Amino acid sequence: MSISDKIDNLLIKAEIGRNLTRTDIIALLKAPGDYSTDIFDVADRVRRQQMGNEIFLRGIIEFSNYCERNCLYCGLRKSNSSLSRYRMTEDEIIATAKQIKKTGVPTVVLQSGEDSFFSTDRICRLIEQIKNETGLVITLSVGERSASDFQSFQQAGANRYLLKHETASPELYKYIRPGCHLDKRMQCLRSLKHLGFETGTGNMVGLPGQTMEILADDLIFMKQLDADMLGIGPFIAHPDTPFAGIDNDDIELTLRVVAVARLLTRNTNIPATTALATLHPQGRLLALQAGANVVMPDFTPEIYKSRYDIYPGKTDTNPAEETIEKLKSDIQSIGRTINFSVGNRQIRPYQGITH
Ligand code: SAH
Ligand code: SF4
Repeated sequence: MSISDKIDNLLIKAEIGRNLTRTDIIALLKAPGDYSTDIFDVADRVRRQQMGNEIFLRGIIEFSNYCERNCLYCGLRKSNSSLSRYRMTEDEIIATAKQIKKTGVPTVVLQSGEDSFFSTDRICRLIEQIKNETGLVITLSVGERSASDFQSFQQAGANRYLLKHETASPELYKYIRPGCHLDKRMQCLRSLKHLGFETGTGNMVGLPGQTMEILADDLIFMKQLDADMLGIGPFIAHPDTPFAGIDNDDIELTLRVVAVARLLTRNTNIPATTALATLHPQGRLLALQAGANVVMPDFTPEIYKSRYDIYPGKTDTNPAEETIEKLKSDIQSIGRTINFSVGNRQIRPYQGITH
């Protein structure tokens, strides 16, 4: 069978929802460049069948850039002494959540470095206050915590948790996150699923030492975990980290991973990540046409936003309301609409193939 027949067959298999093997996934990731459009188109159709044409919004507040970890890839790493650190006050966080509510965005993502100043009690208090004052659906993304912390967060009112596994290779994971172990990360993710959180995981694409086989294992892990949300973004080198200067301009491969994630996991919520938008002016719209169905506008107050410097050139520095207006018109330009409801993951009945 020619390569072309093989890829065509794989895409037919994927579109109708037959399971893809590890070998199939690797073949899709490695297929020659001219197959990208076909792969994206099939993922786009599966996204439409499974999730509809609407795009869901999550408003993100990056409330602390203090971090006790030293991940080699991240600008917030503890050893980066050139970063000016901040913590938003509780009042500032609540006021920002209210702003999100006012804009009509129904969910808030609270993200930070691993900062023990924000103790379990402090975070629980925040969750309770945000819930009481805004009723927003709350997603936490504050790194690894114990299962009992996760339970406390849930009891306080948190509904969702984002914890990217970053890479499914135990060796690469250990290298890029000194002192950390992939097993522990995966255990956290299983606890979250077990507790009933809508659980998000995901990876970075283009890490030094990463192979297509590792990327296939990332995708298989996402599927096996039965993750509800998937954050898939390109690695972008930060100048004040050990990975400075390792260029990654491979937006194409990231989009392929997004597309294969859609083919494999069918009805998950997949954001068009800010990192993709940073790497390419059309990155966000391209992802939305390659399987993604969520956008996460950044509501972090202007005085702090640029200091949440996980990678350089983070876009989306406009005031949030302007961003929403711009988003609306961008989204309309590709024939889609924004849905201002919470957008829980739901199992949709199989609706056949639409063209
Ligand atoms: N401290 C928490 C959440 C903040 S970091 C945690 O680590 O889980 C949020 C995400 O930023 C990480 O999951 C990682 O995938 C992403 N990130 C960090 N540095 C990056 C870089 N240089 N390029 C692309 N994404 C990066
Ligand atoms: Fe800290 Fe998360 Fe950055 Fe690692 S990726 S240094 S845990 S903020």
